[in-house]
Amino acid sequence: MKRVIYRFGPEKTDGSAKLKMVLGGKGANLAEMARIGLPVPPGFTISTEVCSYYLRHRRLPAGLKDEVRQGLRYIERGMGRRFGDPENPLLVSVRSGAPASMPGMMDTVLNLGLNDRTVEGLVRLSGSRRFALDAYRRFIQMFGDVVLKSGREDFERVLAEERIRARVTSDTELGDDVLGRIVARFKEIVRIRTGQEIPEEPEVQLFFAIEAVLKSWNNPRAIEYRKLYSIPETWGTAVNIQAMVFGNLGEGSATGVMFTRDPGSGEKGIYGEYLINAQGEDIVAGIRTPLPMATLKDRMPDVYRELEMVARKLERHYRDMMDVEWTLEQGRLFVLQCRSGKRTPLAGVKIAVDMQRERLLSREDAIRRVDAETISALLHRTIKPDAEYQVVAKGIPASPGAAVGEVVLTAQKAVEIAEAGRRVILVRHQTSADDVAGMAKSEGILTAAGGTTSHAAVVARGMGKPAVVGCGELEIDYEAGMVKIGATAIPEGAVVTIDGTKGEVIIGAVPMAEPELTGEFAIILKWADQLRRLRVRTNADTPEDARRAREFGAEGIGLCRTEHMFFAPDRVGVMQEMILAEDEAGRKRALEKLLPFQRQDFVGIFRVMDGLPVTIRTLDPPLHEFLPKDETKIAELAERLGITVERIKETIHRLEEANPMLGFRGCRLGVIYPEITQMQARAIFEAACLVKKEGIKVLPEIMIPLVSDATELALQRQLVEKIAEEVFAEQGVKVKYSVGTMIEVPRAALLAEEVARYADFFSFGTNDLTQLTYAYSRDDYGKFFSSYQALGVLKENPFDTVDTKGVGMLMKMSKQKGRKVNPKLKLGICGEHGGDPKTIVFCHEIGLDYVSCSPYRVPVARLVAAQATVGKGERKDV
Ligand code: ADP
Ligand code: MG
Ligand code: MG
Repeated sequence: MKRVIYRFGPEKTDGSAKLKMVLGGKGANLAEMARIGLPVPPGFTISTEVCSYYLRHRRLPAGLKDEVRQGLRYIERGMGRRFGDPENPLLVSVRSGAPASMPGMMDTVLNLGLNDRTVEGLVRLSGSRRFALDAYRRFIQMFGDVVLKSGREDFERVLAEERIRARVTSDTELGDDVLGRIVARFKEIVRIRTGQEIPEEPEVQLFFAIEAVLKSWNNPRAIEYRKLYSIPETWGTAVNIQAMVFGNLGEGSATGVMFTRDPGSGEKGIYGEYLINAQGEDIVAGIRTPLPMATLKDRMPDVYRELEMVARKLERHYRDMMDVEWTLEQGRLFVLQCRSGKRTPLAGVKIAVDMQRERLLSREDAIRRVDAETISALLHRTIKPDAEYQVVAKGIPASPGAAVGEVVLTAQKAVEIAEAGRRVILVRHQTSADDVAGMAKSEGILTAAGGTTSHAAVVARGMGKPAVVGCGELEIDYEAGMVKIGATAIPEGAVVTIDGTKGEVIIGAVPMAEPELTGEFAIILKWADQLRRLRVRTNADTPEDARRAREFGAEGIGLCRTEHMFFAPDRVGVMQEMILAEDEAGRKRALEKLLPFQRQDFVGIFRVMDGLPVTIRTLDPPLHEFLPKDETKIAELAERLGITVERIKETIHRLEEANPMLGFRGCRLGVIYPEITQMQARAIFEAACLVKKEGIKVLPEIMIPLVSDATELALQRQLVEKIAEEVFAEQGVKVKYSVGTMIEVPRAALLAEEVARYADFFSFGTNDLTQLTYAYSRDDYGKFFSSYQALGVLKENPFDTVDTKGVGMLMKMSKQKGRKVNPKLKLGICGEHGGDPKTIVFCHEIGLDYVSCSPYRVPVARLVAAQATVGKGERKDV
């Protein structure tokens, strides 16, 4: 085996941050901090390779003990103390630390080297018997638990007993004699629980502890954590042995955790908490409530200033916001750990922009640093700051943003009501997998049970929907369709507002502020725009969505679905009339009634998108979706149209299909009923001419869906071109337009050369393309998806992230074949995948012109498109 021990400290440092795989994150950063001159107590790291060896052979490699002894001599020289010396004892900590951060998963032993003799030396050195005995009892406790597996409960119980007996509330108030008794009782616990004694010999203690830390790599907690975060089993943990420093040597000593900037807001200035007269683990364990960092400024101004200096040095070096463990021993500051600090999305953006301004990062670096997935959280609606309202109940804020809607108590109702165009808040005792479809259709989610990691909270955050969970005051009566909060009853259908940022529930609708792209967020996106090659469009069916998306930076509409224009209550009747017409003349009569509606819709959208391209898809869904299902609605329709119920039922029966998604839909409708496409084309061109006369620049792109053969597109294109000529002649103006197709049927991708002859553009409809390439029904694949994942058949959900292997191959092929016959063929993606970061990177790599996604994903797409352009870049490992 090669070198296995790496020293760090003021005298000599062998490792550095680059050696994270060998030294683990903690060891690598201790070495790096020592290198840049920060006050790190001396120590050494045993490499992760020893862990692999130990777990394979069940023993320490030959020669390790000697190297450890040499390491100890190095620490002894640095500290001027000797390990096991009863007069002048050196104490060390034995700390775990893997290449990936695994907080709290493995173990650490502090104050190692104490025994009945050295403890006396510590009394003399510190001048405090109380301190020395407290350190000793902590050592017994940790060694007993971590190394000899005594468990913790008995220690806690004895401490509690002794506090009561001494009539004090905290451990720091316990006197010498009580602590002496606690030491004896703790040893007794170890003896009874494990049948073993704590070894007296410090070196024996040390090797026991090293083995325990190595073994802790395989404790069930750690294994579970690695599964969750895909950390390889083979990495292993390093072991850090470091001279102890003491934050519990009186009022001039302290211990704390510091962030170099506020991890919540990103504001400049050190942030964190500390405890006076305490040892590091006290903060984590929550035994005493720590003080906010700001109070240290008054209490110990010099220390505060020194910490500021440490923060500045770390940031200059790592070019990142860092999370730091520090200890003050009788006025002397030590740094014990540092790593990249976890932060909120808001702070992430602010810190990246501020650091660019401070010349710590380039613009490219700043773009790389922002986590694209989390920034959509910055785009939630909020309650207007000046709104006045009364909170009726409070719960746990689980997913940020505010939402208003009607109360519904079942997921199914949520789906129904939302599809009718109304906003709902799903209120449940708790949610489960069955509710996900309903959650997706809701504005927000409110539950009576659960915490921040409950199903409701996790799913809501994933969907970016506001959620309040664990609102214990809610009493939900599903049978009565009623929610009670104390004496207040809220029936289903009543409007409520929830604030997922504060965890508040309010009766009625509170005025909302739309999210805005302001401040640092706007700045980073402007930089992204300057760097990216991929254009970003949006999927929008209404002028409101289009306006929203433009505000978020959309550069066009990549998909405007026209069917929603027929589902509105005042229009679906005309649509039904069209479907039930006996002949072409009847259909045309109905379509003529739809024309003005549709034209008006396009006018609205064109006005908003002034100067930007708008891709409009002709009718896509199967016709049966427009017809009523239940008896009363059918009877009403028959009455209204003056036809028999039987006729309607016959039509419904005729339109019924075993596989509607593979049925009479998409361009098949327009091919069989050309009058539908003609009406839509007329509406588009009339609207275009109208707004052009207003001086607005229109760029319509007509997109034919579900093409599987070039002839379909040729036929539809012919219709569209003929109508265009007609309308331009009537209106006396011409509008530039293009005609293209969605590539969503594998056959069209395979025959892209033929299809491209009639297409000005291809837009990948990756929802259908995925469905048809895998032959997975996108509505039902959930039944086997998780089993498939568990079996390793599927890694990712192909409906979330494009399957770059199969579906991606069809995309690449279409591009290549299509551009061969039409070099100017424009290429985009309009499936749901267009807002998924991994897919966006893929689209950049295969050279598409644009991605199109929902308005709220537009900023994410802008950022990811820039990240794809600048690549990963160099980054110091932290
Ligand atoms: P974790 O990885 O769980 O944070 P650590 O190894 O960082 O575990 O140690 C736990 C606590 O003990 C921390 O608060 C740390 O600062 C403190 N600690 C570790 N080593 C020393 C030392 N040599 N001197 C003083 N405190 C220490
Ligand atoms: Mg730590
Ligand atoms: Mg489709």
